[in-house]
Amino acid sequence: MPTIEYEASVGVGDGSGNLLVHGSYDAVKRVQAIILENERLRRMQAFNGLTPAEVERLALLVEEMGEAAQVIGKVLRHGFESYHPEDAERTPNRKLLEKELGDVNAAVNLMTRSSDLDAGSIFHACADKSKRVEQYLHHN
Ligand SMILES: [Mg+2]
Repeated sequence: MPTIEYEASVGVGDGSGNLLVHGSYDAVKRVQAIILENERLRRMQAFNGLTPAEVERLALLVEEMGEAAQVIGKVLRHGFESYHPEDAERTPNRKLLEKELGDVNAAVNLMTRSSDLDAGSIFHACADKSKRVEQYLHHN
């Protein structure tokens, strides 16, 4: 049974950008396979450095924020107490907005529990905004 020689030396050579690999045919093929696998893995990495779990949590957040924005549009067009004419339960827009804002909060909580975001920073930003916005409101 033939043995396979896997020992190879790898170098950058004369600076021309070429990678030099010395060894048996099998060793060179093995180095090539490693390089191609590394290239394949590098192409699979997200350009933004996000993990699939972080992307999923951000997708949930933006989805829920979109749903909240949609209900805000309904409130602005038809009022808090209005409801969809085909809604047999006559759920007012106010309740729909409360539900969607709760969904947004749940997405934020998921991100803070996963250490994507810092809950303390969000709390302080909320407190600061609450103070600053007062002076710019047209109605009290
Ligand atoms: Mg929702």
